[in-house]
Amino acid sequence: MKLRDRVAIITGGASGIGRAIALSYAAEGAKVVILDLSDKAMSAIADEISESGGEVMTLRTDVASSSNVGESFGAVVERYGTVDILVNNAGIFRSDERGFADRGRHLDMITTTQPKTSLRITSTMSDEEWEQMIKIDLTGVFYCSRAALKIMEDKKYGRIINIASIAGISAIASHAPNYSAAKGGVVAFTKSVAHEVAGSGITVNCIAPGYVTSPPFEQGLQMMGEDRRSRLLQIIPAGRVGEPDDIAHLAVYLASDLASYMVGQIVSCNGGVVI
Ligand code: NAD
Repeated sequence: MKLRDRVAIITGGASGIGRAIALSYAAEGAKVVILDLSDKAMSAIADEISESGGEVMTLRTDVASSSNVGESFGAVVERYGTVDILVNNAGIFRSDERGFADRGRHLDMITTTQPKTSLRITSTMSDEEWEQMIKIDLTGVFYCSRAALKIMEDKKYGRIINIASIAGISAIASHAPNYSAAKGGVVAFTKSVAHEVAGSGITVNCIAPGYVTSPPFEQGLQMMGEDRRSRLLQIIPAGRVGEPDDIAHLAVYLASDLASYMVGQIVSCNGGVVI
C-alpha cells in the first residue's frame, strides 16, 4: 500500500480520470476525499469505495468558487486533521455542439488534403466561453492548490498533482484555444509552484494526458462518425485510446514516496501522440 492513511483530495473525482484515480488511491490505502459537482456520481463512487473496505468522503464543491473551495478544505481538516495529497483534476472541455463540430473540422484539417483555410475558432469565441473555461480549468487549480499549501507548508509534506493535457503542451487541440490556454496555464503554474516549495517536502507535478476514454471523450467519439473516428485513431501511434487507469497508475506513483525527487515535471501519458 503506497498511500496508506494519506488524506487525498481529488477534484472532479466522480467521473472518468478522477474516478480512476480515486479508486486507485483507495486501493493503495488512502483516505479519499472527492470534490465534485455531481451528487449522484459522487454517491456511486463512494459506495464502490466503501464496499471494497476503503475510506471515502464526498463534498459537493465548485472548484471555480474560492469560498466553496475554502469551506470544503475546512471540512476535510475538521474530519481528518490534514491534507497530504491534492489531485487537481476537475475540468471541462468544449463539449457543447459547437465545440464538437470544431473538433471535427480541426481533425479534418490535420488528416485530409482539403484546401487549407482558417478554422475561425478564436475569432468567433465569446467572452463567456473563454472566461468559463479559464475559471474552472485554471483558476480552480489555483484555488485548490492555495488551500492545500496552507496546510502542507506547516507540516512540510505534501503532494500536488495537476491534470493538464497534451492541449497544454502542443497544438493538437487547436479546436479549443480556451482549453489549450487553461491547460498551458496549468503547466506553467505547476513549474512555478514546484520551484517555490521545492525545499519544503512538498512536490508539485503535472500529468498531461492524451486522448482518454472518459464520458465526454466518448460523447465526442459518438458524434464524430466512423470515418473521423478511424482517422483520430490513426494519429495515435500506440494504436489505442488511453484508459483512465493509464493515468491513475502515474498519479499513484507521483503521490507516493517513490516520487520525492520529482519536482515540477510534466509527464505526458499519451500513446505517442505528442513526443
Ligand atoms: P469527466 O467529465 O469524466 O470528469 C470531470 C469531472 O470534473 C466530472 O465529474 C465533473 O462533474 C467535474 N467537474 C467539472 N467542473 C467542475 C467544477 N467546476 N467543480 C468541481 N468539479 C467539476 O472528464 P475527464 O475526461 O475524466 O477529465 C478529467 C481531467 O482530465 C480534466 O481536467 C480534463 O481536462 C483532463 N484531460 C482529459 C482528457 C481525456 O481525453 N479524457 C485528456 C487530457 C486531459
